[in-house]
Amino acid sequence: MSGFIEGEDRSQATLFPERLDDYIEENSAVRVIDVFIDELDISGLGFKTESSNTGRPAYHPTTLLKIYVYGYLNQVHSSRRLEREAQRNVELMWLTGRLAPDFKTIADFRKDNGEAIRLVCREFVMLCRKLNLFADAFVAIDGSKFKAVNNRDRNFTRAKMKRRLAEVDESIDRYLKQMASSDRQEPSEDKTQRLEDKEQLSLTDPDARSMKCRGSGIVGYNVQTAVDVRHHLIVAHEVTNNGSDRRQLTNMAKQAQSIIGSKETLKVVADRGYYRSHEFLDCDRANIITYVPRPDTSNNKARGQFGPDDFRYIEKDDQYECPGGRRLDFRTTMHSKGMTLHRYWAKDCQSCAIKSKCTTGKERRVSRWEHEEILESVQMRLTNDQSKMRERRATVEHPFGTLKYWMGATHFLTRSLDRVSTEMSLHILAYNLKRVIKIVGIKPLIKAIQV
Ligand code: SF4
Repeated sequence: MSGFIEGEDRSQATLFPERLDDYIEENSAVRVIDVFIDELDISGLGFKTESSNTGRPAYHPTTLLKIYVYGYLNQVHSSRRLEREAQRNVELMWLTGRLAPDFKTIADFRKDNGEAIRLVCREFVMLCRKLNLFADAFVAIDGSKFKAVNNRDRNFTRAKMKRRLAEVDESIDRYLKQMASSDRQEPSEDKTQRLEDKEQLSLTDPDARSMKCRGSGIVGYNVQTAVDVRHHLIVAHEVTNNGSDRRQLTNMAKQAQSIIGSKETLKVVADRGYYRSHEFLDCDRANIITYVPRPDTSNNKARGQFGPDDFRYIEKDDQYECPGGRRLDFRTTMHSKGMTLHRYWAKDCQSCAIKSKCTTGKERRVSRWEHEEILESVQMRLTNDQSKMRERRATVEHPFGTLKYWMGATHFLTRSLDRVSTEMSLHILAYNLKRVIKIVGIKPLIKAIQV
């Protein structure tokens, strides 16, 4: 092979450098993982650090935690693959001191330390705060659906179960006629009972739910995040099995607020899926400024009639001005869906020339929530600053796109809300770690961790 670059002789004794450390570059991310985990208060976070006096000694939690963080940073998520990597990957050998736990030990660590692993993710976010990376106090809140292990065919909603039961009943009838036997329908009744308790039944992952996702549906989880607008770091996250975002705004905003701190007023932007009056009230009371567009749900507008925006409230007179130029007076108060609503209408709609564009009833009635001024200020803020929605779009797509790309076709590997939450925390820790390394650099980051 003369004339070509030649490799080393495999049988020679000095093929590898003598020190394992010589293999790891000064600027390697694995050094950040090492320092970050070594600096954690492992027992304070809830990991078990006392060894038992009997039996084989266990692996220290830092070893297993390092394996997991390294694995998620390099898109190796399964315990079996991590076991293999620990045996052959030089960076992992360096990280663990050449310890190579078997896959069961690795898997059990993730299963038994869910809460503590989630706190490690939070510790890294606190480090980001220490590095002043959330100085803008501005986050975008968004949710995305992630697939569970559960196959669609093994998830049953009420409607689907009803259809299936009808099919089962039909086939049982046929069977009964043939066999002239009885009581064949018990198994399906049992499932009906379980379904009545839960609304949905998922056979593989009992916590996974069928939810709408981009026009179709998936069986999975709804992952909520609050993402820092400047650096696209995930400040707070939560995994839920509720497919709707409508009740998540305050919850996520408060989590972000507690991490960012109360020095600055937190600004929050979200899409119209989060629009809910009570959420704005709660955010307002918590000193959180919200930017959320109002969804177009007006029935009048859908019928081609004037919508709520066409009526202007005149505060000093406590009246509305309608598109016909007349005044609507306050008439009564009613309560609906936990809201106190003041009702307004004009006395002479019957004589209005444009009544057909306004109402088919005797007169047009307008409702005003007792805290309507909060909704008006949300609207006003968005009208005055259109850039907020552009910033939202540019912010939330980055983390979710990256996370789903890393996760591949099958998103979660574990089952149940608790374990899926742990898995998500590891993904988010890896995502934030990568982002901060890019923003701050490895050496300054190591220095900041060690302070
Ligand atoms: S119908 Fe009544 S509320 Fe509607 S525009 Fe005419 S006067 Fe105003």
